Amino acid sequence: MLENKEKTTIAQLGEFGLIDHISKAVTLTQKTSVKGIGDDAAVLDFSAKQTLVSTDLLLEGVHFDLRYVPLKHLGYKAVQVNLSDIYAMNGLASQVTFSLGLSSKFPLEAVEELYEGALLACKNFGVDLVGGDTSASAQGLVISVTSLGYADADKIAYRSGALEGDLICISGDLGGAYVGLQLLEREKKIFLENPNIQPDLEGKDYIVERQLKPEARKDIVELLASIEVKPNAMIDVSDGLASEILHICRASNCGCKLYEEKIPIDPMTYETAREFGLDPTVCALNGGEDYELLFTVKQADYDRIKSHADISIIGHITEVAAGCELITKSGKVHAIKAQGWNAFH
Ligand code: ADP
Ligand code: MG
Repeated sequence: MLENKEKTTIAQLGEFGLIDHISKAVTLTQKTSVKGIGDDAAVLDFSAKQTLVSTDLLLEGVHFDLRYVPLKHLGYKAVQVNLSDIYAMNGLASQVTFSLGLSSKFPLEAVEELYEGALLACKNFGVDLVGGDTSASAQGLVISVTSLGYADADKIAYRSGALEGDLICISGDLGGAYVGLQLLEREKKIFLENPNIQPDLEGKDYIVERQLKPEARKDIVELLASIEVKPNAMIDVSDGLASEILHICRASNCGCKLYEEKIPIDPMTYETAREFGLDPTVCALNGGEDYELLFTVKQADYDRIKSHADISIIGHITEVAAGCELITKSGKVHAIKAQGWNAFH
C-alpha cells in the first residue's frame, strides 16, 4: 500500500516526536473538551449530565487483517465502532482517546494513514480526539480506542430496561457487513493464489462498505430525541441480532418474539448471501458488525416510530417464561440461540 511513498521510521522521530506530529493534526471543537493532548490527562466538563465511557481493544490478526483492510479504513472503523457503544446508551459521544502499539514494520506514513481515518470519523461525528498512549509493540499493530459521551440520567437506555409488551426495533438493515467480509475473504484467497488477479468487487460497493466503513447510528439517537421516544432498552449490533436480543432479554429478565419476515435485509446482501450458499436470515442473526441499533419502545410509541423508513419493528418483548423465539416466514417457531444454528427453514 505504501510501497511508492517515502518512509520515515518511528525510531527516527521518537515517541514524543510522534505525539507532537499527531497533535498537529488535531483540533478541538466540543465545548465539553477543556484540555486535549499535551498534559498528563485530558480535562472534560459534562456539567449536569451523566458521563458515558467505553473502550475497545483491537489486535492485528485477531480483530483485523491488514492484507485487505486499508489503514485509513481501520482508523475510521476503530473510532466508529467505539462511538457506536456510546450511541447504544442513547447518549451523544463527544471525545475519544486513541492509543497505539506499533511494531517496527510501521513507518510514520502508516500512522498518518491510520489517523487520517480516525480523525475523519471524529470530524463526521463531531467528537474531539483528546489523547491516547503510544508504545512499541513486539509484534503487529495494537489499537485501543476509548469514547466519552454524555446523556441526561433519565434518557440513558440500559440493556436491562425492556418491558413485556415493548416493540422490538432495529435501525437500517442487517447481514451486510458479514456478507461483505465473505466477499473480501474470497478475493483475498484468489489474490494470494495469483497476485495478478485484481479483486472483483464490482457492483458490491454497499456490502463492502458495510464491512470496511460502518457508520455508527448517531442519527437514530438524534431522531429518537426529536420524536420524543425514549427507548426502554438499547444495544448496538456488533455480534449479530440473535446475540444482541439475547443480551437484552437476559439483562431485562424477559423473553421475545422476532418475526423473520420483518428482519430488514438489503437486496444486495440477500443476493450475495445466496451466491455464497448462505441463508440471508442467518447472516442477519449471526453475522455481526452491522453496528445498527437494536432497541425496545413501549407500544404507545408505535405511531411515532412506524413512519420512519430507517427503523423496522421486528417483534415484541414477552414474559421470560415464553422464551426467546423466532417465527420463520413459513410460520415455524425456533428458539433463538446466539450462534451455530442454521438452516431452520
Ligand atoms: P504519559 O507519559 O503521561 O503517559 P504521554 O507522553 O504518553 O504521557 O502523552 C503525552 C500526551 O500525548 C497526552 O496528552 C496523551 O494523551 C497524548 N498522546 C500520547 N499518545 C497519543 C496518541 N497515540 N494519540 C493521541 N494522543 C496521544
Ligand atoms: Mg502515555
